[in-house]
Amino acid sequence: MTRYRVAVLPGDGIGPEVTAEAVRVLQAAAELHGFTVETADYAVGAAGVAEAGDALPPATAAAVTQADAVLLGAVGHPSLAAAEGRRRPEAGLLALRKLLGAYANLRPVTVHPALRHASPIRPDRLEGVDLLIVRELLGGLYYGQPRGREADTAVNTMRYSVSEIERVARVAFEAARGRRRHVTSVDKANVLEVSGLWRDTVARVAGDYPDVRLEHLYVDYAAMRLVAQPAAVDVLLTENLFGDILSDEAAVLTGSLGLLPSASIGDGPGLFEPVHGSAPDIAGRGVANPLGAIASAGLLLRHGLNQPEAADAVDRAVVSALEAGLRTQDLARPGEATVGTRELGERVAALVLQGVSV
Ligand code: NAD
Repeated sequence: MTRYRVAVLPGDGIGPEVTAEAVRVLQAAAELHGFTVETADYAVGAAGVAEAGDALPPATAAAVTQADAVLLGAVGHPSLAAAEGRRRPEAGLLALRKLLGAYANLRPVTVHPALRHASPIRPDRLEGVDLLIVRELLGGLYYGQPRGREADTAVNTMRYSVSEIERVARVAFEAARGRRRHVTSVDKANVLEVSGLWRDTVARVAGDYPDVRLEHLYVDYAAMRLVAQPAAVDVLLTENLFGDILSDEAAVLTGSLGLLPSASIGDGPGLFEPVHGSAPDIAGRGVANPLGAIASAGLLLRHGLNQPEAADAVDRAVVSALEAGLRTQDLARPGEATVGTRELGERVAALVLQGVSV
């Protein structure tokens, strides 16, 4: 029987609560599809600081590089909001992405019909929304040198090489082949030199994918398109800073941060995590929405373990749970009955094992 090793990094706040449900569903999918997933927990974020004085303890760093894939909850704790260096929980996450060489961040955004009311966008504009943001994660302004601040000036550098652009562009074109075969590349080529290189390189890579349609958009127009015509976007490819902003804008379409999964893939094992943070305001109460973490386990099966059928089973079970009216409090209308984190996880795992079809 095929065996995989998954390093589980529950992290802080609601991280452990939602991750437990993601693991439950992962195990159900493995059971249904006849393979084994061995999981082991490691500390990260504030939990890492408490355990080893480091947001990414050496034991965690060693374990993730040996794993087939990494499942993460969330990091961040109010008591460490002002901490510096490796005692800052969020520094653990940046170090982890770098360690894993995770240069492509994938964020699928879909709007379930039963949840259109939860979105601030007009329901008719949400029909058919099914997009994937592919964000470059290890380059651009967040890492470019020189950077610094002195007296009354400060500098950051947006720098990309052809190879950095090319590798993330290929992730986007490959993904488009399994979808509607349309890539929207976002830049600011009318102003930025880096964007000129980005546009030329993406256009050249597109030559290897004649079956995929490519369009280029300026980032300002892309920001409008995402709320005005979100259903017109299939795969949106962009650099680090633009992707950071546009992916949070796209998250608003769904109505709850608790629903959204992400995958960060590259040279090493993939890192899979919900988009939300540690939500200290609701931590420890068993009310967090586990669906973002569960859908991240689905991405882990698809992109981390290459088990697309098991991933489909998880995606179907999530849709089916929502269709059955199961709602955590972030999704419920006033007066609507709610379920807790654990109950929703158990119900989704049961639906996976039943092999529901939608
Ligand atoms: P957050 O995502 O933790 O919470 C924002 C709001 O959304 C809160 O009201 C929260 O209750 C709600 N929410 C988030 N996830 C939910 C879920 N699964 N179910 C129901 N409601 C949910 O963002 P924040 O409050 O800005 O940040 C809190 C901490 O998390 C900070 O320390 C921040 O640095 C950290 N953070 C971590 C990550 C990560 O680990 N990837 C991402 C964002 C923020």
